[in-house]
Amino acid sequence: MRYVSTRGGGKPQPFTEILLEGLAPDGGLFVPEEFPRLGAADLAAMRGMSYPQLAFAILSKLADIPAGDLKPLVAATYTEKIFGSEDITPVKELDRGLHLLGLSNGPSLAFKDIALQLLGNLFEYALGKHGRRVNVVGATSGDTGSSAEYALRGKKNVQVFMLSPQGRMSAFQAAQMYSLQDANIFNIAVRGVFDDCQDIVKAISGDFAFKARHRIGAVNSINWARIAAQVVYYFKAYFAVGGEVSFAVPSGNFGNVYAGHVARQMGLPIRKLIVATNENNVLDEFFRTGRYRVRGAAEVKATSSPSMDISKSSNFERYAYDLVGRDGAKLRALWDGLGREGTLDLSGTDSFRRVADTGFVSGSSTHADRLATIQRVWKDYGLMVDPHTADGIKVGLEHREQGVPLVCMETAQPAKFAETIREALGREPVRPAGFENLEKLPQRFEVMDADVGKIKHYIGSATSRSV
Ligand SMILES: *Cc1c(COP(=O)(O)O)cnc(C)c1O
Repeated sequence: MRYVSTRGGGKPQPFTEILLEGLAPDGGLFVPEEFPRLGAADLAAMRGMSYPQLAFAILSKLADIPAGDLKPLVAATYTEKIFGSEDITPVKELDRGLHLLGLSNGPSLAFKDIALQLLGNLFEYALGKHGRRVNVVGATSGDTGSSAEYALRGKKNVQVFMLSPQGRMSAFQAAQMYSLQDANIFNIAVRGVFDDCQDIVKAISGDFAFKARHRIGAVNSINWARIAAQVVYYFKAYFAVGGEVSFAVPSGNFGNVYAGHVARQMGLPIRKLIVATNENNVLDEFFRTGRYRVRGAAEVKATSSPSMDISKSSNFERYAYDLVGRDGAKLRALWDGLGREGTLDLSGTDSFRRVADTGFVSGSSTHADRLATIQRVWKDYGLMVDPHTADGIKVGLEHREQGVPLVCMETAQPAKFAETIREALGREPVRPAGFENLEKLPQRFEVMDADVGKIKHYIGSATSRSV
């Protein structure tokens, strides 16, 4: 399996070459040259596999890592000790045909751990093998940052520079990141919104001289290995439920639901991929109208499902590449236009008509919907769900079809968003063991302006000190 850029530039690359990369050199994102296809016999063989077995079976189709290396890496990642149960992503039936896929039982209590715990081990493996070091630069609206830091803390040959929007995360989220005392972790609290952080990371990724000099790598949601790792739990849920299923996915940067698209393209019988957004509904607007309208940073609303507060979805380009018939030149032309006008209009085109073939539908949720869903799930099923998960359930139920099991993704633990839980239920969320006094721990972070030059300077001096 080799990887090409969505914008058609460069030569196809093996997985191990793109593992440490964010953007492709031409500014596009890496996607498989073609999706590996699994037949009925492959699926039958996968049924009954444990999570690590399944992860190995799927990742070995996507990654050119020798089996003798990949197997132990996967086995060391997906353990009961790290994810709380042997199932790793347990499926709970709430009601007949209504399921919750538990993705948030890892160390940072959000679904991103599933991909990032693997990525941490893949990085350490690849760097050790080539005798290299990497400085990971990432942007987070809350959950990526803590997941990445928990995955990379203390790892050899890795330093992490994580940009987060100052004052835009929940107190719990901020404390999760800022309380880490590991010397290889650098938290940068940016005076701005998440998109400012993401733009700075993109600018750094686009400066090839800087990148090469400081050995910059990425773990943000455009990293292909993260997508690959997320494909696995779609298979796991499918086997747990049995038969064709639809998935409801709380979405922001489109990484989670795009992994579902990959699973579907690989042959997993998924009926619908239901994209749920919050008030920042750029994705919902696209699926309803064919118009993808990027918003300015000032237009991004700070909502009570903050990990989905985005103005544009970085992985959307990968999906759009499939919609335009995997034509890099066409995609590049569209994206060049997007840069100028801020809107990509596919309405009325064959590309937009392909959306139906890919099973995507969408909806959005408001703060009031979120509270009502948290209340309803609590009352009907005695279960506390976090605000993002609630957005997924709300939109999922709107698209539920008779006779088709619906799997809603639980993307975070309610403990991370206590304020909204208190507002909805008038009580405190349950805190998992080990997180009781999190906000009282000493914090370590640097406050900086949303200024690429200053942040580059900071990273540059920290990385030179460490050599
Ligand atoms: C990151 C995140 C999302 C959005 O996932 P994307 O892959 O960016 O679409 C949803 N919910 C939670 C809790 C998250 O942390």
